[in-house]
Amino acid sequence: MERQVIIVTGGARGIGKEIVKTLATEGHIIICNYNKSEKQAIELKKELEPKGIQIEIFQANITKKEECAKLVQFTLDKYKKINGLINNAGIDKIQMITEATRQDWDEIINTNLYGAFCMCQEVAKGMIKNHKGWIINISSIWGQVGASMEVIYSISKAGMDGMTKALAKELGPSGIRVNSIAPGAIDTDMNANLTKQELKELEQEILLEKIGKPSDIAKCVKWLVEDEYTTGQIISVNGGWVIT
Ligand code: NAP
Repeated sequence: MERQVIIVTGGARGIGKEIVKTLATEGHIIICNYNKSEKQAIELKKELEPKGIQIEIFQANITKKEECAKLVQFTLDKYKKINGLINNAGIDKIQMITEATRQDWDEIINTNLYGAFCMCQEVAKGMIKNHKGWIINISSIWGQVGASMEVIYSISKAGMDGMTKALAKELGPSGIRVNSIAPGAIDTDMNANLTKQELKELEQEILLEKIGKPSDIAKCVKWLVEDEYTTGQIISVNGGWVIT
């Protein structure tokens, strides 16, 4: 398979880290974006080096359009093309709608939706010119069915899935595939607030009776990277927690 140049946002931790490791191990050129987790990004680079795997790490806050542009320009200056973008960076906040502030709205929407939109906008220019490329948006089960106490997050992820479908239509004729992967509950820092009892109860709601691992999402990403005929889809990787 062709060695692809791939940007992964929020790649230093959690699901993003596993995606970076999986695709880098496959031989692809990975530009691993991070915002606050510089230490983890450097550690990840060092962890892969003894295996003969090189990755690029690049700091950018994706809520800022100019920083998205710098991330994309860095990649183009160094590698001349971008084959793929994985919009993985995301944040969540558990709260009642009555507690949510304008600041909560701005932080969640700007990260999960506007940041992903800006990244799509930046990479689309080159992909359209090359008549080639793909985008994977890591959305969420909550964008599909809605989560109590996570209304802003649910809005952001439903918006992301809407963006996936719209861009698949807009960019398909330019040879660009756009898909979402909608994870269920995955064992990362994002769920670190759950108690052992809550995790146990959650597992009982899932058909496969277990919480997912970041590698479950990375495997789906790997498949989509290799695929050539899937676009505009929201792919649920949730252990059968919900069937949409
Ligand atoms: P996580 O461990 O909390 O990691 C979040 C990642 O997002 C970090 O790498 C973080 O980077 C990055 N990020 C946040 N704000 C950013 C910004 N402004 N600019 C650049 N990067 C930013 O979460 P995770 O579980 O791996 O989640 C990854 C994605 O999967 C998210 O989009 C999340 O919504 C989605 N998801 C997760 C689950 C789950 O159960 N875990 C379920 C459904 C969907 P820094 O640390 O460098 O700031």
